[in-house]
Amino acid sequence: MDALMLDGNAVAGLLQEVFAVEMTTALATCCRCGAADALGATHVFRGAGVVMRCPRCDNVLVTIVRDGARVWIGLSGVRTLQVGV
Ligand SMILES: [Zn+2]
Repeated sequence: MDALMLDGNAVAGLLQEVFAVEMTTALATCCRCGAADALGATHVFRGAGVVMRCPRCDNVLVTIVRDGARVWIGLSGVRTLQVGV
């Protein structure tokens, strides 16, 4: 392991701080069109899971699937996610 590299446990406190905030006001920058909108402004489609699409270009930003005690969150269409801490 490189001297500058740690595993993800090294940022446990940061992750807890970042993901324990109000997410509807988080700004997601779309990978396709570059627009930055609050997650609360996305277009949401519900089925076996949840798909959140960019309100400007319809790109899939976020996918969420819940199965009992676990949740899978895909951020494949999000370039950056900006949250207030
Ligand atoms: Zn977009």
